[in-house]
Amino acid sequence: MLKIDNLTAEIAGKQILNGLTLEVKAGEVHAIMGPNGAGKSTLSYVLGGRPEYEVTGGSVEFMGQDLLDLEPHERAAAGLFLGFQYPVEIPGVSNVQFLREALNAQRKGRGEEPLSGGDFLKLAKEKAALLKLDMEMLKRQVNVGFSGGEKKRAEMVQMGILDPKFAVLDETDSGLDIDALRVVGDGINAIMRDPAKGVLLITHYQRLLDVVRPDKVSILAAGRIVQTGGPELALRLESEGYDAVMEEA
Ligand code: ADP
Ligand code: MG
Ligand code: MG
Repeated sequence: MLKIDNLTAEIAGKQILNGLTLEVKAGEVHAIMGPNGAGKSTLSYVLGGRPEYEVTGGSVEFMGQDLLDLEPHERAAAGLFLGFQYPVEIPGVSNVQFLREALNAQRKGRGEEPLSGGDFLKLAKEKAALLKLDMEMLKRQVNVGFSGGEKKRAEMVQMGILDPKFAVLDETDSGLDIDALRVVGDGINAIMRDPAKGVLLITHYQRLLDVVRPDKVSILAAGRIVQTGGPELALRLESEGYDAVMEEA
């Protein structure tokens, strides 16, 4: 589904991704772990098409298309979803408005009719229930005054509504207490565990991987993938730390 080959990218003239190569097949959850500053968020922004990030080399193929050739909204319409490490607040815009606009913009991008207000609310209620988020939260302004955990849950409601083919989730577990972690992890499984979908799951913690069980685990360090393995690699990182495992690699 996603084929990243020798990708290099920079921000503010500083090279962050240094020849990153990674492949995710349909049906796979691929966890990315790695030290702070390694370039994990940079990778997710580059995949999403954030303009400040300049791709200087390499290629990214997404379901047979040249991803880097597409505008961010075209990437979304093609089925790519990006979950932010730090979800942004949008004062003056309610979640319901935001989510309905986002969904209908994507449907339009795919040549589909917009969803009616009634059908949209039904869908939103179903996904909010899945993430155990009170519908009242969705009437509030996007992320304004939300706790860390509420932001992440609202973002997973967004993912449920948009129903992407591929999700890049950047530290979705940060700021979650143990119960919220379970709810969010179960939500990711319910929405994205599908033979036709793929997930790039960026995390520091085994506790999320206990719920969303990865098929593969890669270590990203200094802007490239330095090691790939199965779920056991995450367990080794948890017990031995990045330095010990990477030294051996
Ligand atoms: P990670 O998510 O793995 O912790 P990031 O991708 O956020 O790492 O950051 C990688 C590197 O890029 C860091 O050294 C960070 O300081 C640098 N960086 C990120 N954004 C900017 C920016 N706007 N200007 C300069 N450097 C940046
Ligand atoms: Mg970080
Ligand atoms: Mg980060």
